[in-house]
Amino acid sequence: MQLEKAMIEISVIVPTYNEEGNVMLLHRRLSEVMQQIGQPYELIFINDGSRDRTLELERELAKQDTHFRYIDLSRNFGHQIAVSAGIDASRGEAVVIIDADLQDPPELIVEMYAKLKSGFHVVYAKRKARQGESFMKKLTAKIFYRLLSRITSFSIPVDTGDFRIMDRKVVDALKQMPESNKFLRGQIAWIGFNQTFVEYERQQRHAGTTGYTYKKMINFAINGITAFSNAPIKCVTMAGFLVSFVAFLMIIMSFVVRIFYAHLSEPGWASIMVGLMFLGGVQLISLGIIGEYISRINTDVKRRPLYFIKETNLQNFE
Ligand code: UDP
Ligand code: MG
Repeated sequence: MQLEKAMIEISVIVPTYNEEGNVMLLHRRLSEVMQQIGQPYELIFINDGSRDRTLELERELAKQDTHFRYIDLSRNFGHQIAVSAGIDASRGEAVVIIDADLQDPPELIVEMYAKLKSGFHVVYAKRKARQGESFMKKLTAKIFYRLLSRITSFSIPVDTGDFRIMDRKVVDALKQMPESNKFLRGQIAWIGFNQTFVEYERQQRHAGTTGYTYKKMINFAINGITAFSNAPIKCVTMAGFLVSFVAFLMIIMSFVVRIFYAHLSEPGWASIMVGLMFLGGVQLISLGIIGEYISRINTDVKRRPLYFIKETNLQNFE
């Protein structure tokens, strides 16, 4: 058994959520690439609670291809957790994470693997251009990654997704990070070692529609920021000081006006209302941000298992 464990050189992890139009083609292209590299490999497809025929197709592939493993999660847990399930199951010396929708060209793995072997621990794919994605998506992604790299104390590469290859050292380090709010690309950057990138053009989705709704994207962004930066809390504190200082000046000013320019002193309801609302707003924002951090503590304190597996063929390979 140990022998077979040590035999796998490359594990490819593919999270799939309603990808019935892509699974077969992706499997074929990945297999070709793996044959070209010529190392022992495994393909691990995670079905993240799809509502289409994705699981059926994966079961079918498991029958046809001995390199193929699939993990069926008990419901939709989201992309990051699906990838985590794959990472936990992977046994290769090198582990690839790739999207199922063929936006990340499998053929690039050849170059990424070669670069990894030339002395790197992580090779991520950096997008030169993104095709077929909405203007809003590109814009929000751009702003988000620039902002994130500004407020974190280590550098998270911009314009990258989770398409990357990493070696066992990094994978083991990643598995030691127990947080339940996963933000893998940030965590991998945080781990360090020698990291580099190759550039590519991001393709259009082959079939199906994006599984990342705006709601999921916003959650993902909040997660990324709160996981790696205290900047929001610092901003709130600074804003608090600033607002208090301004309020202090206003108190002095109103005294001066009252004593020396009594004829000018007006009841000033408007300014009081504005002041009240402004302070109320600042307080609400602060509470929201504090709540965000507390909710992270809350989820991590629970130490719940990240996911449950409903069905898999992994036992055939143990
Ligand atoms: N995905 C997943 N669970 C989800 C959403 C997406 O496993 O809840 C998978 C999806 O099948 C794909 C990858 O994550 O392989 C990236 O998702 P998608 O292409 O929808 O995101 P986008 O490329 O639009 O950011
Ligand atoms: Mg996609």
